[in-house]
Amino acid sequence: MTDLRLVDYIPVSKLVVPQTLVERPRFPVVDTHNHLSGEFGGGWDQRPVEELLDVMDRAGVKMLVDLDGGWGEDLLNKHLDHFKNKAPQRFQIFGGVDWSKWVEHADRFGEWAARQFELQIRRGAQGLKVWKILGLHVKDQRGTLAPINDPRLDPIWAKAAEFRVPVLVHIADPVAFFDPIDAYNERYEELHHHPDWSFYGPQFPSFDLLMEEFEDLILRHPATTFIGAHVGCYSENLSWVGKLLDRCPNFYIDIAARISELGRQPYTSRRFFLRYQDRILFGVDISPDLDWYKIYYRFLETEDEYFNYGAEEVPGQGRWYIYGIHLPANVLEKVYQLNAHKVLCPQ
Ligand SMILES: [Zn+2]
Repeated sequence: MTDLRLVDYIPVSKLVVPQTLVERPRFPVVDTHNHLSGEFGGGWDQRPVEELLDVMDRAGVKMLVDLDGGWGEDLLNKHLDHFKNKAPQRFQIFGGVDWSKWVEHADRFGEWAARQFELQIRRGAQGLKVWKILGLHVKDQRGTLAPINDPRLDPIWAKAAEFRVPVLVHIADPVAFFDPIDAYNERYEELHHHPDWSFYGPQFPSFDLLMEEFEDLILRHPATTFIGAHVGCYSENLSWVGKLLDRCPNFYIDIAARISELGRQPYTSRRFFLRYQDRILFGVDISPDLDWYKIYYRFLETEDEYFNYGAEEVPGQGRWYIYGIHLPANVLEKVYQLNAHKVLCPQ
């Protein structure tokens, strides 16, 4: 027998266990982490809004946060016109920070960015999205990498507090993206397909340093509501996320694109959801797709064991399957909608 290549290995589980397909969520859903740009920086989801709304209706999603409002006026206006204005109760659009202007505004960059964000709010933005380039790529006017907790950026966070809009922050990435792409990397296949997703090497700060800066950012701005994307940016370590939630009442998390991580540690996850049931927001990180929503509902609602968390035969984030955490109804309702109502702007 010749050696089998990893790419050709697609084992089929022989387990005979219940398969509970959840067609509709138990409660109406607010999707707090979504992207309606077809490709960020340009257009938007190419489907007519009516079609998007139809998918949302069938998936039981009553409202969706589009994080792709961008950092200028044009893109934000496009997203407001194309989505929000057509169905104001169904969409919220978040704005962003134009980091490329740090050189131009030098020591006044933070104040300038805060003023830009205020203009975005006045136009209709209902929150701020901070992309993971902060910490990994954003440089100040001297070309020095800016830490996530850089005090020069404080005016931005203060502005969000002043207008009572949330800041959804994505810091770093899966921990394995900071390791060498080798036989020991649990996301080897994903990184093999996308080598540019790797943050391994001396040109990048370590994962631990980014998390320390992130923690300090949340701690130093208690009046600002932060949503830590992707399970507080550290879904591999729910104990770390829990400690930050314990220390910072202004901190919430979303579960977008991380049921792969949550569902492979089902006992720890279930305890985490029960303990932090008031701080967890639903989101999927992928533009409305009925099948994706159903996988999330199955994870949150059922006791199903060992199922694929993705659409491919070998799921994209790693070669493992997940387990449902069968949350009680009162917790499900908080995660699906009630926590979002607390954190997001009223419509
Ligand atoms: Zn996202």
